[in-house]
Amino acid sequence: MSAPNSGYDVVVLGGGSGGYAAAFRATELGLSVALIEKDKVGGTCLHRGCIPTKALLHAGEVADATREGEQFGVQATFNGIDMKAVNAYKDGVVGRLYKGLQGLVKANKVTLVEGEGRLVGPTTVEVDGQRITGRNLILATGSYAKTLPGLSIDGERIITSEHALNLDHVPASAVVLGGGVIGCEFASAWKSFGVDVTIVEALPRLLPPEDEQSSKALERAFRKRGIAFKTGRPYEKVERTDAGIRLTIQGGETIEAELLLVAVGRGPTTADLGYEQQGVKMERGFVLTDDRLRTSVPNVYAVGDIVPGLQLAHRGFQQGIFVAEEIAGKNPAVIDEDGIPRITYTSPEVASVGLTEAKAKERYGERVRTLTYDLTGNGRSQILKTAGFVKLVSLTDGPVLGVHIVGDRVGELIAEAQLIYNWEAYPADVAQLIHPHPTHGIGHHASAGRERHRGYRHALAQARG
Ligand SMILES: Cc1cc2nc3c(=O)[nH]c(=O)nc-3n(C[C@H](O)[C@H](O)[C@H](O)COP(=O)(O)OP(=O)(O)OC[C@H]3O[C@@H](n4cnc5c(N)ncnc54)[C@H](O)[C@@H]3O)c2cc1C
Repeated sequence: MSAPNSGYDVVVLGGGSGGYAAAFRATELGLSVALIEKDKVGGTCLHRGCIPTKALLHAGEVADATREGEQFGVQATFNGIDMKAVNAYKDGVVGRLYKGLQGLVKANKVTLVEGEGRLVGPTTVEVDGQRITGRNLILATGSYAKTLPGLSIDGERIITSEHALNLDHVPASAVVLGGGVIGCEFASAWKSFGVDVTIVEALPRLLPPEDEQSSKALERAFRKRGIAFKTGRPYEKVERTDAGIRLTIQGGETIEAELLLVAVGRGPTTADLGYEQQGVKMERGFVLTDDRLRTSVPNVYAVGDIVPGLQLAHRGFQQGIFVAEEIAGKNPAVIDEDGIPRITYTSPEVASVGLTEAKAKERYGERVRTLTYDLTGNGRSQILKTAGFVKLVSLTDGPVLGVHIVGDRVGELIAEAQLIYNWEAYPADVAQLIHPHPTHGIGHHASAGRERHRGYRHALAQARG
């Protein structure tokens, strides 16, 4: 750790995706930066979130491919999951990325201050008795796994995603409380590992914020994979049993399992950090900002999961970069929350950007039209033996308002969809662009002597009318 001192251009509290992105962009723009982190730079995403969960999901994909090898003429025998080895693979990925990030902190000449910080002045943070002051302060303290009243996390039978990432064995059965992104991803990975999984979701469908058609497709796929789920049924109570837990849901039905994963959302890490005392306006623990990420206190900004909205790493990165550029006087363009792409890395994947059909209709009424293309006829989908669709939501004679895709490996396609959405492209602007074949972006197959185009480009061509 370099020696901290006062008079930085920027002090960043919290070294997760939002905080370190802000720090790196600020030094790149010639500003001096102190980055305060109480644990490990990289935060939730690198150590307890995006990266380790995606490693688990990939291990699950390999397990499924091994089981299903015969369908592809590959002789393989699935002998089980060695959780210690899975964890070694996952931790190896995290470890290498962490090392790279630590190198970037040094290379970017960011002063890393290790310790827990607390605001003691509008732009002054105290860390272990030492005061660090900046011309500007960026709050980036992230989030923690929430629980519900009556549900005490013990880390063994009743666990959060953090414990779930460090299990040293494959449980025989599990209940996942919460059918959002995190709950569905763990259910998907665990099923691939051979766990008997049931998801309990209070709202009427899995992945409630996604387009209803995407939720339904995921539910169909989960049913086929043997992942049980109870939707529209809030949990009532949980009891510990000799073998694990017994969960009672509304209506009296009970489910027993070895463990309960509580995945009911993430709360902002803002309590007792001096934010309110310094006049930072808050609501339900979240820091309120304007669209330029300014808090109610001059020269104090907030980024990432503590700011109400999508709790995603790439949103935090972008907000961090935005604030650094704002401080450097670069007047960056305001971030459109709807233009932030979302991926749920389940099998199959669910990806989206822009508005759902329901939201688009709320905003634009009858002017909204949708087109859905089943990927069944797509060559790449046939090869991978996956099913799904591409759904476009657009304005009649207007731009694409939303894109929703379901299927194995479709997450990568959302990068193109987000360009289309964020550039406010009309279907006609992009329908003629050439996509590589065979991909989910386009598939050709001969039918009655004429070639038909299916997939992404086909949907765009049809939307063009
Ligand atoms: C299981 C799981 C899977 C996820 N998967 C994805 C995914 O696939 N894709 C995606 O985009 N997002 C995913 N996320 C969400 C993503 O991790 C978060 O949106 C992102 O990490 C938020 O970044 P942040 O900088 O706001 O906060 P964090 O990453 O939480 O970082 C905050 C940092 O601040 C530090 N800190 C807190 N208080 C103090 C203090 N007082 N003093 C000093 N330091 C402090 C913490 O130690 C932490 O390092 C996932 C999250 C979870 C839990």
